Amino acid sequence: MATTESHSDAGSIDESELEEADPNNRTVRALTEVMTVLDSIGRARNADNLFLVNSGSGSEYLVDTRTGSCECKWKQFNPGEECKHQKRVAFATGERPIPQWVDDDALDDQFGLHVDGEPRKAVADGGVMEVRFDDGGVTDPNEDPLAVTSEDEPRTKRAKQEDIDVSFLAKPGRYEVHSASDSRYEVDVLEETCSCPDIAERCKHRRRVEIEIDAQRVPRPDGKLPDA
Ligand SMILES: [Zn+2]
Ligand SMILES: [Zn+2]
Repeated sequence: MATTESHSDAGSIDESELEEADPNNRTVRALTEVMTVLDSIGRARNADNLFLVNSGSGSEYLVDTRTGSCECKWKQFNPGEECKHQKRVAFATGERPIPQWVDDDALDDQFGLHVDGEPRKAVADGGVMEVRFDDGGVTDPNEDPLAVTSEDEPRTKRAKQEDIDVSFLAKPGRYEVHSASDSRYEVDVLEETCSCPDIAERCKHRRRVEIEIDAQRVPRPDGKLPDA
């Protein structure tokens, strides 16, 4: 059952797959379908060779890169071949470069978000380069609290991207928000209110204030400065 992949194999791209570029091709599906690869939670915790792949349809499969196994049904019927989940793990971790012919816009936005490695892209001279996404998708949100991820709702994206100043009003839970359009609103995180006209459940100002508090960029709602 178990097949061991040699390292030289893992780093190369199958030429025949490069040429077909058939939309149903497993490599194409591995690159473009909505999938999330996770390497440090649940059954994949504490093991370098284990990855959880969540499909867009909500199924979860455990991929073991050491034994070359995947839990999906396709793999059961094609034990000698690599399923799209295994391919996705190899691409998402950067173990295998993304083929040059792949249009960056066609890549699933989830690429490289939840794994330690970074996807790499093959270039014409046979080398590789790191893939960067316009939406900052490979930025670790822990490093930049205002980095937008593809999971963010539109309002959260605006909360992060717009030029908004947040200052503490020296009253518990109250913050003044100064927007790029020069409007000033008052957010009360304890009352969960904002003085702006947006009737959404959580307007972008409240989202931004919460982000700034979490990131310890403004005093906490109780008036204390963030712990150094
Ligand atoms: Zn699979
Ligand atoms: Zn607001």
